[in-house]
Amino acid sequence: MVKAAARRTFEGMTVYHADRRARLAALLPGAQADAMLVTKAVNVRYLTGLASSNAAVLVRADASAVLATDLRYIETARRLCPELTLAEHRDVSGHLVQTAGPVRLAVEAHHMPVAEYNRIGGDLVPYTGLVESLRMVKDEAELDLIRTACEITDQAFADVLTEIRPGRTEREIARALEFRMMELGAAKPAFDSIVAAGENGAVPHHSPSDRPVARGDLVTMDFGALHEGYHADMTRTVAVGEPAAWQRDVYDLVRTAQRAGRHAVRPGASVHDVDAAARGVIATAGHGEYFGHGLGHGVGLEIHEVPFLGQDKPGRLQDRVPITVEPGVYLPGRGGVRIEDTLVTRDGRPELLTQTTKELLVL
Ligand code: ZN
Ligand code: ZN
Repeated sequence: MVKAAARRTFEGMTVYHADRRARLAALLPGAQADAMLVTKAVNVRYLTGLASSNAAVLVRADASAVLATDLRYIETARRLCPELTLAEHRDVSGHLVQTAGPVRLAVEAHHMPVAEYNRIGGDLVPYTGLVESLRMVKDEAELDLIRTACEITDQAFADVLTEIRPGRTEREIARALEFRMMELGAAKPAFDSIVAAGENGAVPHHSPSDRPVARGDLVTMDFGALHEGYHADMTRTVAVGEPAAWQRDVYDLVRTAQRAGRHAVRPGASVHDVDAAARGVIATAGHGEYFGHGLGHGVGLEIHEVPFLGQDKPGRLQDRVPITVEPGVYLPGRGGVRIEDTLVTRDGRPELLTQTTKELLVL
């Protein structure tokens, strides 16, 4: 059903990191800043390659940069970031503010605690989402990592299908999916897996319980692999035993809506229109009130990142922006169906990253 998950890592990552820092530096004059202090961990990782719980990077308008981290990570930083000026310090932000000197320094207002903002002093310019806006469009190295995360996700689902049967609990199925993903090379699950059987399927973010799967249930599974910092996100709903007519009807409706949403994903499309393409199918069938969340979200170093597909969201899609399309219909007390893929367009052509079948599987 899916090809074996290949483990791939990308050579020459430092080239990508230098390019990313140069693109950030080019945005600084427009942000009225001479330099930026980046403190959010995934943003530090994006700009340097270093994954650390205590690191920050100073990027100046001339694209020169200083990476600060403490003793626990400094050896890794030397290995991963040989081209960067490194500073070993526990107070990474305080140290980099001093290093920056008397300049207007942009800080990540959506991440930095108020206490830290007050403590570090300096001429700080609060700014939101600057590195995130760069992260939205992915380079080849990133697409390769997301593709591998999705392959692991597909393969784990195929391997665990036999575990989805009467008597197995939601929790057991979640554990089986997660264990298999890690056997296939995932660092860990990309997020808390959702397994929702029967009436629990009406809760979009149900936590797996000890409820056993029974004949006649629809079972919704929303899960994904984390690979080298990059996330996969997929949802499938299967039937255990021959589905009732209403179950097949809801499944076919969600599948039709999901296809409409996927086909609307193209560079230049407004995120509102992509959402509407799927939502309209569900509303026309009279189930609009039972699809209460946005159609999808960007995927990368975070499981939920810009852009967000929704009725009230601004902006347009671009090429090379991996995104999920995940409509659902949730009928209180009865159950639900959600179908989710991660996909991307490259040179305008769609590439489906999660490739598990969307035929209704009857187990
Ligand atoms: Zn999901
Ligand atoms: Zn999702």
